[in-house]
Amino acid sequence: MHIPLSRPDIGPEEIRLVNEVLQSDYLSLGPKLPEFEQKVADYIGVKHAIAVNSGTSGLHLGIRSLDIKDGDEVITTPFSFIASSNCILFERGKPVFVDIDPISLNIDPQLIEAAITPRTKAILPVHAFGQCCDMDVIKEIAQRYNLFIIEDACEALGGKFKGEKAGSFGHVGVFAFYPNKQMTTGEGGIIVTNNDEIARLCKCMRNQGRSPDSDAWLAHEMLGYNYRLDELSCALGIAQLDRLDTILAKREEVAQKYNEILAKVEGIEIPIIDKEVTMSWFVYVVKINRGINRDKTIKYLHDKGIQCRPYFTPIHLQPFYRRMFGYKPGDFPVCEDISERTIALPFYNKLHETQIERVCECLRDAIMRNRVQD
Ligand SMILES: *Cc1c(COP(=O)(O)O)cnc(C)c1O
Repeated sequence: MHIPLSRPDIGPEEIRLVNEVLQSDYLSLGPKLPEFEQKVADYIGVKHAIAVNSGTSGLHLGIRSLDIKDGDEVITTPFSFIASSNCILFERGKPVFVDIDPISLNIDPQLIEAAITPRTKAILPVHAFGQCCDMDVIKEIAQRYNLFIIEDACEALGGKFKGEKAGSFGHVGVFAFYPNKQMTTGEGGIIVTNNDEIARLCKCMRNQGRSPDSDAWLAHEMLGYNYRLDELSCALGIAQLDRLDTILAKREEVAQKYNEILAKVEGIEIPIIDKEVTMSWFVYVVKINRGINRDKTIKYLHDKGIQCRPYFTPIHLQPFYRRMFGYKPGDFPVCEDISERTIALPFYNKLHETQIERVCECLRDAIMRNRVQD
């Protein structure tokens, strides 16, 4: 029995809507784009949503729309997917890492203030694995120091902090729709904002710098990109978004089943969710206790046909970050300790109870074998 790490959930409505686009005259810049954007804006409860061709493109436009450039500092987390930090480098800004909270695995809000300098322009929190950061503290600091907030909400679509949706807290919020995310458009992403000017800039830059208010195909008012999301992807997104609440409920069920079994297994820690947070489960990640060989545990599971992986590798220890900034092991000890102990287990909407049980059984066996003998 092979159990993959993730798997998209495509239903008949997705196929119907994508087919409809294929039979139409518009494969890009047609009616599905504004329809998808309006649906996402309504779902998050913000004024604007601007669809783009990846989460990374969305983060890049977020950075550019706030005019973050040469040498500007952006405070962010080293425990994330690399795009949340690379987007700052695209504009020659400087990511300033702050260590994480060992429980939430998000940027530790208590450490942010000490990292602020006269060059700090923004804070870029990442809602890791779908758990929202403590946005009360982050917003308070941002207001006090007059900083922008760019929320990397790519893993947290539908998640909430104190009842408010991820993506709605910052000047800019970004979601991603790669196939392993809660919902997919194939490749894709979307920027959300309440700010009219930011929305206009993002619309302009995603379409080669063309004015969003004119049809002149060869008039370019600023430097732009081709970050457009095509109609097929938007149609897929519309059908997925219509089912999102059901999808999130299903993922909650899978996570609870894992919690129920794994809470009783010695040697691992299950995810701890803050009581102010409504989780939107992106991945299910456990921590292996110190003294158990994580990599051998993963290998054992692989040999049994169960796909799993370490999640994440610290950004500051990626080879080119080390070369560019001189980072070394020990710089962000909490992040590094957690990174050495995480395993993301198979996690998707249609994961059956028997499969969950099998994963847990194999994980228990693996841990028994891989305890380091004192
Ligand atoms: C998925 C993800 C992104 C964006 O990924 P794309 O593959 O560019 O869509 C950005 N940040 C985080 C934290 C992510 O998990």
